[in-house]
Amino acid sequence: MRPQLNDLLTPPRLFAAVSLLLIVATLLATSFTQARFFRDAVIDREAVIVRDMAHALVLRELAAPDMESYADPAAQVHFERSVSALKSLSGVVRIKIFDHNGTIVWSDEPRLVGKHRTTAHEEDLEKALGGTTRAVLNPAERPSHAEEGLPAEELIEFYIPFSVLRVGSAGETVRGAISIYRLARELNDTIRRGLLLLWLVKGAGGAILFVAIFTLFNAVYRRQQRVESQFAKLSSEHERIVQMEKLSAMGRMAAEIAHQFNNPLIGVLNLAQLAERNADKPEKVRSLLGEIRQAGEHCRDFVGRMLRFTQASRSEFQPVELAALAGDTAELFRQSSPEHSEVVLALPAAPADVQGDPVLLRHALFNLLDNAARAAPGCAVEVALASGDGGWRISVADRGPGLSPEVMENLFTPFFTTRKGGTGLGLSVARHVAVQHGGRLWAENRPEGGAVFHFWIPVTRDDEDENTAG
Ligand code: ADP
Repeated sequence: MRPQLNDLLTPPRLFAAVSLLLIVATLLATSFTQARFFRDAVIDREAVIVRDMAHALVLRELAAPDMESYADPAAQVHFERSVSALKSLSGVVRIKIFDHNGTIVWSDEPRLVGKHRTTAHEEDLEKALGGTTRAVLNPAERPSHAEEGLPAEELIEFYIPFSVLRVGSAGETVRGAISIYRLARELNDTIRRGLLLLWLVKGAGGAILFVAIFTLFNAVYRRQQRVESQFAKLSSEHERIVQMEKLSAMGRMAAEIAHQFNNPLIGVLNLAQLAERNADKPEKVRSLLGEIRQAGEHCRDFVGRMLRFTQASRSEFQPVELAALAGDTAELFRQSSPEHSEVVLALPAAPADVQGDPVLLRHALFNLLDNAARAAPGCAVEVALASGDGGWRISVADRGPGLSPEVMENLFTPFFTTRKGGTGLGLSVARHVAVQHGGRLWAENRPEGGAVFHFWIPVTRDDEDENTAG
């Protein structure tokens, strides 16, 4: 199988390639600038040394009359003597002395004397005559090298300005320039060694920087990978646990249904056997058949409750005013409860409009009222409706025994009941309704005794807009 580009371009490899590229580019850019600076600095330094040497060894000896009448053999001898010390310097291959017009008044190559400056060094000489010391590294293939009989290799040319006092004048000077050509071999060697050192240091620095950055990235990347894989493992384990919970809840539900059917079924079988044995006693058979019908009705009621429970997952949303809904439900509950339990309502003046399914909301509230009334028979149930947290909260409080830790823990588990004949479905259905409306249902014990159940659902967006507009 051919490796895919994505497999080859793993994040560490991509990072290594990009960072290496950036480091190399930065090093090249800075090194070229520094190399140029280093080379110029070395040549300038050399120029200063040569200028100081020239001033110390030669220029003191030069005299204005020699400059003016340079063709005079005596002047030439004087020049020769003056520059003899310079000629003995290592690598010096040509010396020329120019007057202020750029005419060569003396050179170690006699045939150049009297010639005017050539275009080859016009600019440098001009600057030197203007007072600036110049140093130029010239390539070997310069034509003037051949013309002047100079060696065919790289030379460094120095142009050094000087001025000599005119005899008998009051401080008047004659300007000139001396040019010295030296073999660039030694200087080039020094520059080459310096540059080599520079590149080595830069290269080593770049390599250390790259290794450090890459190691750091790799450590961070690996750590992130580890965290991600742990997270993925946890998520899949969580999924598994949720799945197991669901299965076990379904198992419990199936067991409960089987249990609910089993008792009446055994009763029906026993009653039927009894009826068979008493087939000749019609009165007895009628009474047994009546009991069988009762057991059947019991089963039918249970199935009905189960169906209502499953229907709770279907809902139709519409505008609902909660205060009116709470009032209606409380009235219905009062009428239908055996003791006509009293319900005390604390409702807000403003309408409590929400979007919801009134049938489900009524059913949930009814369950809460029923539980409260059963917890404290004969005592009034208190229902309060208040806004908060961007929604409305219906609180149903009683004066019963409250909720023990065990009951509190299992309150909303389907089929959990402590009541004889209870189904254990009332609260789980009520919570289901709350969740369907984007809300919550929770319970707590009241400090003054008894329990309170809070059913909270959020206000719809339309409602919020209206409120802010109003
Ligand atoms: P059921 O009423 O059929 O038992 P519910 O789901 O409505 O089922 O309630 C589950 C259990 O929660 C009850 O059996 C009871 O133990 C406890 N419970 C519910 N409401 C209250 C309350 N107001 N005070 C004390 N216990 C309560």
